[in-house]
Amino acid sequence: MHRQITGRLIIATHNPGKLREMRELLGRHGVEAVAAGELRLPEPEETGASFRENARIKASAAASAAGLPAFADDSGLAVDALDGAPGIHSARWAGESKDFRHAMEKVEGMLRERDAFTPQQRRAHFVSALCVAWPDGHLEEFEGRVDGTLVWPPRGERGFGYDPMFLPDGFARTFGEMTGEEKHGLPPQGRGLSHRARAFLLLAAACLPEKKF
Ligand code: IMP
Repeated sequence: MHRQITGRLIIATHNPGKLREMRELLGRHGVEAVAAGELRLPEPEETGASFRENARIKASAAASAAGLPAFADDSGLAVDALDGAPGIHSARWAGESKDFRHAMEKVEGMLRERDAFTPQQRRAHFVSALCVAWPDGHLEEFEGRVDGTLVWPPRGERGFGYDPMFLPDGFARTFGEMTGEEKHGLPPQGRGLSHRARAFLLLAAACLPEKKF
């Protein structure tokens, strides 16, 4: 049996791009979302070996510290030609200053070293592992993925992280050129486009009340 999310929910992220997207997704269901940063909850170290483990670490730490259910996403970009890198290290490739232009240049530089110039050689996917943890230890976990190719130079000023170089399959615009709504691609217009929206739809079907428009 899945457990239902009721009342307040902590969003266990300190990443403003993710926080905005999670609020957009949860808002449709009338859930009151409080950011971990607003409650000054500490950021645990992400010591897991997978997206799923790291999502669990973040959600569980926030749920224990706040005494409320907490929601976390661990996500990243996996590039086929780089054997899945940067993967769970996606945030770290941007360095202390969180400079994603630098992180994208690093990906591009490594693709060039491998003579990866055609779309087929530049396949990549984003992954999002979502976890909701309750203070009593109960967990709900969901995963989503979106496939595409990497373009250079980066295109678009929207989104965050690696969005400007990611062209999802079947689209002519990068995530960096899409509005939040287009990137989510949620029903009734779509069936979930971004990795986070796809994972979120699974979570919503299992744990959230009917959405309110
Ligand atoms: P973490 O889950 O906090 O370790 O960080 C995930 C990192 O993956 C983010 O800082 C971004 O660099 C990247 N990432 C995750 N989701 C997205 C996305 O939707 N667009 C672009 N980059 C993303």
